[in-house]
Parts: sequence; C-alpha cells; structure tokens
Amino acid sequence: MKTIGLIGGMSWESTMVYYQLINEVVKNQLGGLHSAKLLLYSVDFYEIEQCQVKGEWDKAADILSAVAQNLEKAGADFIVICTNTMHKVVPQIQGRIKIPVLHIAEATAEELKAHNIVKVGLLGTKYTMTQEFYKEKLMSEGIELVIPNDDDIERINDVIYHELCLGIISDQSKQEYLRIINQMAKKGADGILLACTEIGMLIKQEDTSLPVFDTTQIHARRAALFAIND
Ligand code: GLU
Repeated sequence: MKTIGLIGGMSWESTMVYYQLINEVVKNQLGGLHSAKLLLYSVDFYEIEQCQVKGEWDKAADILSAVAQNLEKAGADFIVICTNTMHKVVPQIQGRIKIPVLHIAEATAEELKAHNIVKVGLLGTKYTMTQEFYKEKLMSEGIELVIPNDDDIERINDVIYHELCLGIISDQSKQEYLRIINQMAKKGADGILLACTEIGMLIKQEDTSLPVFDTTQIHARRAALFAIND
C-alpha cells in the first residue's frame, strides 16, 4: 500500500472528512482491520487565507511547497491537497517535489465524464469560480461550466469562509445555495459540482434533483484507490 501525504487544515473541518472517507474506502476494499497509511500535515489556515486575501499566491506556494517537501522526506508516495482553491499553486509545488500531486480537478473531470455530464454548475470559493486555474482543467476535458452572477459569487464565498470553514451550518445559507442551484438548472446545468471541500457539509444529494458531485468525496476516494492499487 502506498503512503498518502495529506496537506490539510484548509479547513480542518473538511480534512476530517477526507481522513474518514479515505479510511472507509480502504476498509471497504481490503476488509477487516485494514486502514490507510497516511501522513497528515495540517497547516494554520489563517496564514493561507491571509495570502489569498492579499493575493500573495507565491507566498502560499512557498508555505505549501515546504509542507509537501516535508511529507516527501517523511515517506509519502504521493500528495493530496485537501482543498480545491489551493490547487492554484500546484504547478509551483509539483516543481519542488519528485512524488506526484493527485490533482482534485483532474479527478473531478474524469468523474464528470464517467457520468456523461457535459454542463456543470460550479460552486466554490470566488477564486475557484472566477480564476482560470481550476475551470481550465474541466473545460479542457470538454465540460461546460455554469458560473453564478457576481453577487451570488460573493454570497457563496462568504458562506464558505464565515460559516462552513468554522463548522457553522445554517439553514438560511442552505436555502440560498439551493436558489443558486435552481438558477444553474435553468441555465442548462445537468449536474452540480461542489468544488469546495466544505460545501458537502451544507448541500447533500437529497436536497436537489440534479446529480451532485462532491469534490471531497471524489478526491478522497481517488486517493484511497490510488494508494491500494498499482
Ligand atoms: N476548502 C475550500 C476549497 O476547497 C476553501 C478553503 C480554501 O481556500 O482552501 O476551495
């Protein structure tokens, strides 16, 4: 079994979900007392969030690259970054380590294609919804995106940073997300992508008739299967 190097803490609320899901998949696949071999380096999210707000992406890349190098030295066989947004700096991180980074958007694009989704509603942080680093990974696989309007982008982003990353689940925010999801359906989305690792705490498959794709589930499952298969 390969050893997974998890870069977590962004936020720790969703890193807990990764830890649980990875171990559940390994247990289901291998049975008995099997569990995942993994190293978790959990960062102080405040430092990372400050880099995001100030646009100091190179500084964030330096912090996460140092973490990835530590995980490599400690014996990780591959890296899993437990957030969509910070995949913005994957090229810098990958340039400083020899082990691969299992990219969340690449895993997600494969999953969407396997389910014949051609147009997906994108929910994530404002960085993920407005910048190219994430969207281009999906679009290059032929997947069309429905992006919320500017006001809704701000609202979705506020809920992520001021509620979900702090473990706050609000019914009012859930209703707002569902309103936005309905608009995406009207614009032709045939699926909804939870492209932020905390949104699965708020929106579940049973909340909408559109198929829901949760990047946390997709990424964690992919990591577990990659660890146990050659
Ligand atoms: N976990 C979130 C994501 O998947 C947001 C927190 C962050 O900015 O890393 O994008």
